[in-house]
Amino acid sequence: EPYIPKFVEVNYSDGSNDPKWSSSNFPWEKKLEENNKKVFGNHSFRPNQREVINATMSGYDVFVLMPTGGGKSLTYQLPALICPGITLVISPLVSLIQDQIMHLLQQANIPAAYLSANMDWSEQQEILRELCSDYCRYKLLYVTPEKVAKSDALLRNLESLNARGMLARIVIDEAHCVSQWGHDFRPDYKELGILKKKFEKTPVLALTATATASVKEDVVQALGLVNCIIFRQSFNRPNLWYAVIPKTKKCLDDIDTFIKENHFDECGIIYCLSRNDCEKVAEKLQEQCGHKAAFYHGNMEATQRAFVQRQWSKDEVNIICATVAFGMGINKPDVRFVIHHSLPKSIEGYHQECGRAGRDGARSSCVLYYSYSDYIRVKHMLVQGQGEQSSWTSGYNRGNTANSDGIFEKNTENLLEQVSYCENNVDCRRFLQLVHFGEKFDSGNCRKTCDNCAKMKTLVEKDVTVIAKQLVELVKMTGQKYSSSHILEVYRGSMSQVVKKHRHESVSLHGAGKHLAKEEASRILRHLVIKDYLTEEVKKSDVYGSVSSVLKVNASKTSDLYSGKQILLRFISPAKASKVSKSDATPAKGILQPYNKLSPPVDTPASAAPKINVELS
Ligand code: ADP
Ligand code: MG
Ligand code: ZN
Repeated sequence: EPYIPKFVEVNYSDGSNDPKWSSSNFPWEKKLEENNKKVFGNHSFRPNQREVINATMSGYDVFVLMPTGGGKSLTYQLPALICPGITLVISPLVSLIQDQIMHLLQQANIPAAYLSANMDWSEQQEILRELCSDYCRYKLLYVTPEKVAKSDALLRNLESLNARGMLARIVIDEAHCVSQWGHDFRPDYKELGILKKKFEKTPVLALTATATASVKEDVVQALGLVNCIIFRQSFNRPNLWYAVIPKTKKCLDDIDTFIKENHFDECGIIYCLSRNDCEKVAEKLQEQCGHKAAFYHGNMEATQRAFVQRQWSKDEVNIICATVAFGMGINKPDVRFVIHHSLPKSIEGYHQECGRAGRDGARSSCVLYYSYSDYIRVKHMLVQGQGEQSSWTSGYNRGNTANSDGIFEKNTENLLEQVSYCENNVDCRRFLQLVHFGEKFDSGNCRKTCDNCAKMKTLVEKDVTVIAKQLVELVKMTGQKYSSSHILEVYRGSMSQVVKKHRHESVSLHGAGKHLAKEEASRILRHLVIKDYLTEEVKKSDVYGSVSSVLKVNASKTSDLYSGKQILLRFISPAKASKVSKSDATPAKGILQPYNKLSPPVDTPASAAPKINVELS
């Protein structure tokens, strides 16, 4: 049997560090400058725009990683304008396409057309006819991916264009949708590899605002890019401020206060887990708190959704309470806050959702309300593999969450990484996010614009191996049948009714951790879950949909603990820790104010012990 490596070695080079691409000696230089100013009304190019344009116009396949709002569209619209022929653009959503075409026409007077499956056949025919004519007025043709996958007519037309030398370039927008590992997999994107096969010589330009290393590999592979040049820039968004805040029963009051104190009458998004949550949150903010709020989720009619989005675009409502179905293609520049009412499903998704704030570069807030019990809730949705489908993804990969390709495992892993991010009350939020995209961020550059950097903190590292072993032992001793809050109670020596009911006061490790603060013990236990020593096994416990969870021991992993593996955890030293306050050393002016009132004092428990019984809405 010949050895077939899973990934064929791909050839690509890093364009970001190659001065060649920023040279102004390209023959089209003058045209670029002129048209960028005159037609698009820009004074200059943004980082990497000129470089990407030069590389794609030189005929290379190019992969661009640029944060949301960075200006990816210009990198194909400007070449489309000045090159002969037609540029094919694949874009995932019709609403996104319509928006782009309208902008092209209104702002730049560039004619563009689109084809989608739900258009009249006659209308499609007309566009295809125009494409074949020698005097085609369109410079760009937008299509949805399923068009490429399913329409022979389109492929035939592209072939004819190509034969006449009129297919200038192929653009794959939101290219991360190709990858199952991404947060927004769309099966039709997988089929796009056919384009490079059919149109070998046509340069492909793939664009995305989000890609981890594995997503990047996937995209390059699936699209069949050759000798691809990659441009990437920092994904740090200096104008966004990040905080994770303990989610309590009065979370909605907290959100109300936060908005009133920091973003009164400004525009924002509140991401909720379920459709029901969206409606409840919107109703409360609207009726009891007097905000102009509306909700948006996958269960609404398309027309209703479009109506809400329009209202929001026109500032008739300021706050949209939405599932993650709301987002892609939102171009509103002045979104001042993105609030997560519950746990996001991955750091990648979280970064993307936050990225919708502050596109205009002005200061904006990203606040995540976190409770460990939301982890159980989300995990349960994962296990069910259905949950509320369109809140899990944007609704395109239904039924894909629990298939055999390791998607379930990957989703679980992504979720645990997000939990770990939330549990971390020490490291810079920017650092934690960016490291995920393979970028090393120096937290000194955060300048206290995240909750963790804003804390005046002294850290102590503790060896918690003994405690960790005891907790694992305790889970085993009690038969792997109890929730984490119960285990913690027993460990800290509680004599509560429940403890007595199960006779757990006579277990030998009962009270072994009584010297520990509740928060400390709980932090260690959660760490064991995050690191996979223990697993939360969730199930629906009754017909009313409440979810319960029990801790299990992951034997293959815990053996590490007995072969000398140490567990070190950093804690904020209680002696030195203090509230973040204006009197503290030199916080950058004005920056901390909004969070002063909100940041919990760091030396008090950050959140209550995990609550395991959760009502599923
Ligand atoms: P992305 O697709 O990367 O999220 P867009 O292409 O939608 O970003 O661009 C975001 C905004 O930036 C748009 O309003 C666009 O007009 C603007 N923009 C793009 N390039 C420039 C530039 N060179 N100068 C000024 N504004 C720009
Ligand atoms: Mg874009
Ligand atoms: Zn920071």
